[in-house]
Amino acid sequence: MHQDPSDSPVHSPGPAHSTTTVERGSFCLARCSCGWSGAARRSRDRARTDAEEHRTALDR
Ligand SMILES: [Zn+2]
Repeated sequence: MHQDPSDSPVHSPGPAHSTTTVERGSFCLARCSCGWSGAARRSRDRARTDAEEHRTALDR
C-alpha cells in the first residue's frame, strides 16, 4: 500500500461547510459556504450557535 496525501482530490481534510456571520443592520445571521443561511439574530453569539448547529447537524 502506498499513501500519497497530495494525490487524493476526493477525500479532502477540513470541514466542507465553512460558516461565517454576516451583519445586517442591527441583526446578525450565520452563513455557510454550502448556501445555507440561518435566521437573523440580535446577537452574534446566537448566529454563531446557529452556524455550529448547522455543521454538527450535517456531520451526523
Ligand atoms: Zn453548510
